[in-house]
Amino acid sequence: MNTRNQLDIPQIGTRTAAFRESVIREMTRLGDKMGAVNLSQGLPDFDPPDELIATAVEAMRNGENQYTFPFGMAEFREAIAAKSLHYNRINADPATEITVTCGVSEALVSTVFALTESGDEVVILEPWYENYLPACEMAGVRPRFVPLREPDYTVDPDIVRAAFNDRTRLIIVNTPHNPTGHVFSREELENIAALCQEFNVIAVTDEIYQHILYDGYKHISIGSLPGMADRTITISGLGKTYAVTGWRVGWAIGAEMLTAAIRKVHDYMTVCAPAPFQVAGITALNLPDSFYGSMRETYDRRRGMLLTTLRKAGFTFPTPVGAYYVMADFSAITWDEDRYTQPDWTRDRAFAEYMAREIGVAVVPGSSFYEGTSKGTSKVRFNFAKREATLEEAGWRMERLVNCR
Ligand code: PMP
Repeated sequence: MNTRNQLDIPQIGTRTAAFRESVIREMTRLGDKMGAVNLSQGLPDFDPPDELIATAVEAMRNGENQYTFPFGMAEFREAIAAKSLHYNRINADPATEITVTCGVSEALVSTVFALTESGDEVVILEPWYENYLPACEMAGVRPRFVPLREPDYTVDPDIVRAAFNDRTRLIIVNTPHNPTGHVFSREELENIAALCQEFNVIAVTDEIYQHILYDGYKHISIGSLPGMADRTITISGLGKTYAVTGWRVGWAIGAEMLTAAIRKVHDYMTVCAPAPFQVAGITALNLPDSFYGSMRETYDRRRGMLLTTLRKAGFTFPTPVGAYYVMADFSAITWDEDRYTQPDWTRDRAFAEYMAREIGVAVVPGSSFYEGTSKGTSKVRFNFAKREATLEEAGWRMERLVNCR
């Protein structure tokens, strides 16, 4: 007999009751079911550099199969410190200021848990990467959404200022930005930094796409700006730069006092990041500068392919200058709207269903990057971290959108 439905427990999961299922992963599943080309979830369909795989395999053969220090292998933390100094202009002591985590996602959750009290507020720039909101909800802190200014998703300093108050504890920044491809300028970051100092707020910055840049854009870490070293947690990881999203390795860099709190949460939540992949991470962070140059060139070609397809099909969008996504508006496209309209689907969700089922390309509905269901509804997000053959196939399939016009 199934007793699972007979428990007399009045409330279960109130802390997570408001969560939506990750629409991104749901779209990946729908895409799989329909045999669609998956341009939804942000995972590459190509392999990481050979030497990373070789190092991970060798590490497993050499006995690196047990727990490491909770906050990460010493040599890996040293590699992170060296890279951060060189690339981010952040000077971190690997002994006390770096925590290696199970991906950027865990680093973010551990940071929000560690650095907030219930009732605090966290400023989130909208649209945002979908994990930020559940992190706040689980921690019992209130998100305050601040819209980025369309069409190119820049920061309006007055609107950000209006969201700050004496309950604000954190602001989450993400540059280069998912889903829009915006790269925050020095001026935008300086405005945020000034507010953090005025209101005694900590900046939590997700820089997972820091190496993926186009058109000469440069990455700036808010933690490198004057007055921000002690009040910034800089988060990044291996997943996107080295095409190893399944390895689950990230890190959080911050002042000793903040790091001590983050390490405690991290230790009890996951103990440590996977040992062999930390070893491979040392190899990754020591790759020569030429790796980053050719990685960017390859991404630039992929970006070009997808943007050409999207323009032809009638989408409009600001050109992404970082990361590997395009937030594209489908208002000018003729599609089978009546057939796909359903009472519990937003318009973008209906369009995404149409794309997966009729065109054979899986995308993410734009509203999943916004609060509520009324914003982002004329947009969908495309991901171009794909082999050129995959993007070519998507291009052929999307020609059917052109033919519908
Ligand atoms: N931050 C951003 C902005 C992302 O786009 C993603 C993945 N799509 C993550 C974090 C997740 O990172 P990880 O896989 O290292 O947990």
